[in-house]
Amino acid sequence: MTRRPRCPDWCAGGHRCGLGEHRSDPISITIPGAGTAVLTRVRAADGTDHADIRLSAALPADEPAARLRLAALLTHLRTLIGPPRAARRAA
Ligand SMILES: [Zn+2]
Repeated sequence: MTRRPRCPDWCAGGHRCGLGEHRSDPISITIPGAGTAVLTRVRAADGTDHADIRLSAALPADEPAARLRLAALLTHLRTLIGPPRAARRAA
């Protein structure tokens, strides 16, 4: 008999829980005219946890300004998920 692992307290269960993966209810924020972010906590089948983030950000109509915004987004995302400052100095 195969026992299903117990869900963590934050798991939404139902269709969000299966194949060894657990997912929370998504949390979304919308800034009118700027964009929307949706964050979901996930525990993968290997037991590691991560945040699944979907981001929709408005871009300026002006192409150079849009590219500048995209570069800024990449910089901020890299800062957010990159290695901590101490690890960067040691490398
Ligand atoms: Zn679950």
